[in-house]
Amino acid sequence: MNRKLYLLLLLYFVISTHCRRDEPFPVTDLHIHLKGNFGMEDAIAKSQAENISYGIAFNCGLKFPVHSDSQIDSVITMMKDYPQFYAAMQAEGREWVNIFSRESINKFDYVFTDAMTFTDAKGRRNRLWLKEETWIDDEEEFMDYLVSTTVNILLEEPIDIYVNPTFLPAQMAGRYNEFWTAERTDRVIQAARAANIAIEINNRYRIPSADFIKKAKKAGLKFTVGTNNADENFSGAEYALEMIKKCRLTRDDFYLPVNKRLNGQI
Ligand SMILES: [Zn+2]
Repeated sequence: MNRKLYLLLLLYFVISTHCRRDEPFPVTDLHIHLKGNFGMEDAIAKSQAENISYGIAFNCGLKFPVHSDSQIDSVITMMKDYPQFYAAMQAEGREWVNIFSRESINKFDYVFTDAMTFTDAKGRRNRLWLKEETWIDDEEEFMDYLVSTTVNILLEEPIDIYVNPTFLPAQMAGRYNEFWTAERTDRVIQAARAANIAIEINNRYRIPSADFIKKAKKAGLKFTVGTNNADENFSGAEYALEMIKKCRLTRDDFYLPVNKRLNGQI
């Protein structure tokens, strides 16, 4: 082969593989709720219209709609009519580990939780998305406790994805970079790495930051796209798409569960 042709072919190969890597890939939003006026038929229509696959998540835990093994069975039976969607367990509070049997938990395609509900050192139950249920005596201490709690959750609870990651209560959220120092970021990333847990890129809260995502990618973590919609008013996985571009994430950087109803496991 003459040298010129060889170089041309080489150039073509380099350019084409490079471009392929930057091509947009189909997005799967693994954190969709049937809430507000958003029902199953709406999910089917929206998923098709926006060309985004969905994982439908069910809130499971103490004082939540699903709080027993038999209720998990009902959910899975219902989801057998919708094999195009993944079925997700959103594990709530910290009690969930003792409420459901492992056998029932495994009927879902994947399990996720966040660090937004926990009991602090003074025994107060925090729910970080509610101002009246968030107890902050000292912001730095609160932050250290939140990071330790997150690390414990990642290391101890049997989950696949850490969702609403790095969420901060409203009064602190505007100073995200101040609170999510390199050291705190590293602690969470190392724990997720040790337990092989994927990190959600959350469209609703626009978290975690690009800096966190880049560090997590460098550490070899996988990601998911998740919206955590409160009702029917959401669209397009905008933040995740922005981060995919900004952090140069590829299809291979994303975790995808197995649909157990489709592959005959259930
Ligand atoms: Zn959720």
